[in-house]
Amino acid sequence: MKADAKRIERDIEEINKFNLTPGSGITRLTFTKEYMGALNYILGELEKIGAEVQIMRGGNIRARFQGLEKNAPSVMIGSHIDSVFQGGMYDGIVGTVTSLEVVRLIYENKIPHKNPIDFVIFVEEDGSRFSTVLLGSRIWAGKVSNEDLSKILDKEGTSYLDAMKKSGLIPKDEGLLEGNKIKAMIEPHIEQSLVLESKGLSIGIVEVIAGIKQLELTIEGVSNHAGATPMNLRNDALCGAAEIILNVERIGSKKGTSVATVGFVEVIPGKTNIIPGKVKMTLDIRDKDDAVLNEIADSIMESIESTCKNRQLKFNIKQVSYTKPVLLSKKIAKTIEDTAKKQGIKTLRMVSGAVHDSSIIAEFTDVGMIFVPSKNGRSHCPEEYTDIKDIEIAANILLDSVIDLSK
Ligand SMILES: [Zn+2]
Repeated sequence: MKADAKRIERDIEEINKFNLTPGSGITRLTFTKEYMGALNYILGELEKIGAEVQIMRGGNIRARFQGLEKNAPSVMIGSHIDSVFQGGMYDGIVGTVTSLEVVRLIYENKIPHKNPIDFVIFVEEDGSRFSTVLLGSRIWAGKVSNEDLSKILDKEGTSYLDAMKKSGLIPKDEGLLEGNKIKAMIEPHIEQSLVLESKGLSIGIVEVIAGIKQLELTIEGVSNHAGATPMNLRNDALCGAAEIILNVERIGSKKGTSVATVGFVEVIPGKTNIIPGKVKMTLDIRDKDDAVLNEIADSIMESIESTCKNRQLKFNIKQVSYTKPVLLSKKIAKTIEDTAKKQGIKTLRMVSGAVHDSSIIAEFTDVGMIFVPSKNGRSHCPEEYTDIKDIEIAANILLDSVIDLSK
């Protein structure tokens, strides 16, 4: 019994027909017409194989395949189908279609399983409509209340709750996720980086999802005439920012495991003939080790302080978010690794620099992630590409791992 690559390819094509921006990547924002089109296609496929589909809290989807022991904790597989604006065909979709193929094969081949198998679709993973990542899994986990959902707005001012109602998704089960009801979860996903491709490997096994610290920094100098102010009498906020950005790169490279990025810079007033008086910028620092993450962040803070002192600039720094690294299950990683070995597939243990719904579910139960290569490491862009052969390999490893975990 093996995954059918043609069928998986067709799923990818069908889902990606639902796209707001044809010709310019894939745009499928939560609860929109495109989102519902893709969801209905998947629900149609699930109906053919007798799934018990439930709309869960917050509009998350759970399709249950009952096991021999009705009350046994479930084995969960799945991912998300929302995309970023003008993103690619594979982010979230790889996990969705491989999981769909697995439940099909288990159904068609009448594979007996003790535990129920739950195929899930988490809502608003990428945060592109409501500006909050992992929103669906957070709602399901009880970290966001239904009352909060009436206050979370998209750019047009439509609340999450109203958008969900308008889409026709009415939750039938408002229950929260409970650790003792989920035995394990596996989420396949594209790597969104270059590691697997550079090593010529098809499969990565995630051990830890990196912690993230995001900061907002405002630097204040003095705006003045670009012609009349001598160089030695300036307090140029942008020159200070430039020094800080290079320091972020230098400090971020120190440990080898961390990454540090300045992704946004706003120069005020931003005119050709005016010395920049103010700069706003963001910092994004990640590491798999919480202590290292904090050490790097502290070291960057110190360098900001000293740069601003030397250049007589004022600054204000605000922590926007801080998520600790999430350790995934050693047990599930071993299951995936052993399964791959039996199938003759080489794997690599790795760190995920990006967050996933798995980070939230890992608080409740044993979670594993299977990574497949992203061509040239590209993701969240129209060029995002993963070879169907790698997706097929992931589906086969997922299949045998799920059978093993649910028997
Ligand atoms: Zn994703």
